[in-house]
Amino acid sequence: MVVDFELTDEQKAAVEMAHDFALNELRPIAEEWDRKGEFPKDLILKKAVDAGFTTAGIPEEYGGGGLDQLTSAMVFEELFWGCAGLATSIGANNLATAPILIAGTEEQKKRWLTKLCDGEPRLAAFCLTEPEAGSDVSSIKTTAKLEGDHYVINGQKCFITNGGISDVYTVFAQTEEGLTGFIVGGDYEGVSMGKHEDKMGIRASHTAEVFFDNVKVPVEDVLGEPGRAFVIVMQTLDMTRAGVAAAAVGVARAAFEEALAYAKQRVQFGQPIIVNQGISFMLADMLMKIEAGRRLYYYAGWLATKMAAEGRMSRRLSVASSIAKAFCGDMAMEVTTNAVQILGGYGYMKDYPVEKYMRDAKIMQIYEGTNQIQRYVIAANLMGIKELKQA
Ligand SMILES: Cc1cc2nc3c(=O)[nH]c(=O)nc-3n(C[C@H](O)[C@H](O)[C@H](O)COP(=O)(O)OP(=O)(O)OC[C@H]3O[C@@H](n4cnc5c(N)ncnc54)[C@H](O)[C@@H]3O)c2cc1C
Repeated sequence: MVVDFELTDEQKAAVEMAHDFALNELRPIAEEWDRKGEFPKDLILKKAVDAGFTTAGIPEEYGGGGLDQLTSAMVFEELFWGCAGLATSIGANNLATAPILIAGTEEQKKRWLTKLCDGEPRLAAFCLTEPEAGSDVSSIKTTAKLEGDHYVINGQKCFITNGGISDVYTVFAQTEEGLTGFIVGGDYEGVSMGKHEDKMGIRASHTAEVFFDNVKVPVEDVLGEPGRAFVIVMQTLDMTRAGVAAAAVGVARAAFEEALAYAKQRVQFGQPIIVNQGISFMLADMLMKIEAGRRLYYYAGWLATKMAAEGRMSRRLSVASSIAKAFCGDMAMEVTTNAVQILGGYGYMKDYPVEKYMRDAKIMQIYEGTNQIQRYVIAANLMGIKELKQA
């Protein structure tokens, strides 16, 4: 058999557990924390830790769940179905720890990954973006100067999920050799939180600036070779984009279910609005696109799992994960917008969750590389450019 769409027993169990958590723990508090615009760390993080979601992708030998990239993405489809904001903060550890899994030494993995898996409510944050360096990673201005047996990091990161409330940071800064990755403890002197962002959507996630002010990091905590971090960043995003695509499918699915139920019970002109082809075809299109998106992230997640197992990266994975991320991000925006349309004026009101889904979906086109940047990756491949250069 070339392709088997049957989930394994392990995958079915993981998806079911994530669905129950989304239904019973995330959905009941989603609206309140969306309104407050804060991540209720004290309320939800320990539960997420106990359920294994914050460390799902960390190998079992370091105390994590050991889920492969595909199964992890399936789990996050469910959590994002529950609440995209809460799920973003819960899931950010996966992005932050990917550079350690890709480029870390055995000693670094033992020290930092094990710490994140000690059962305490711990978070990790991925610190790449800066005020003047978003899509253009090469513009990063944060510096790390070698002084004897340690580096001194100075700079400012922005839009960091769980920034300022994390125990572990993977930080990218310029050294003499070029862009370099570091692992930084949240309790190190000089690490501080700046502005806490007030966002359009995923409002129950925590997003903030992070400042590094003369932060001393031992040379043992450099990730990979100094000057080689651009490749680590690209490989990290190749590995995690299937997860963003899955997240987008989760949000779209939530909106679709709400719109379908509403269309069946809302009566206008003496009949449920779903009997109008203008509505039922919209719903059919929404379902078609959700299903297409899920197949794309299944493929990207499967390929990421295969590459991780083989300990290598490939252009095929870069393209597949960019296709999945861009398609699913755009699809989630379209599906959630149409869900609001199907609910009419009620869809525009906060009494129904679809306006939240629409606000939440927008981020899927922006974070972990905008959808223009995904198209850039796909087009570069079409043009035969072997590696995205550090422009
Ligand atoms: C809620 C939230 C959470 C985030 N979490 C994190 C995090 O945890 N860690 C982290 O490091 N970052 C994080 N980010 C940052 C995010 O990854 C960046 O916002 C994103 O990569 C885009 O960068 P930018 O905002 O600077 O936009 P810019 O790069 O300035 O882009 C602006 C616009 O120009 C377009 N554009 C830029 N270059 C090109 C080009 N060559 N061709 C065509 N179009 C182009 C972009 O697609 C976009 O539409 C987060 C952002 C948000 C909003």
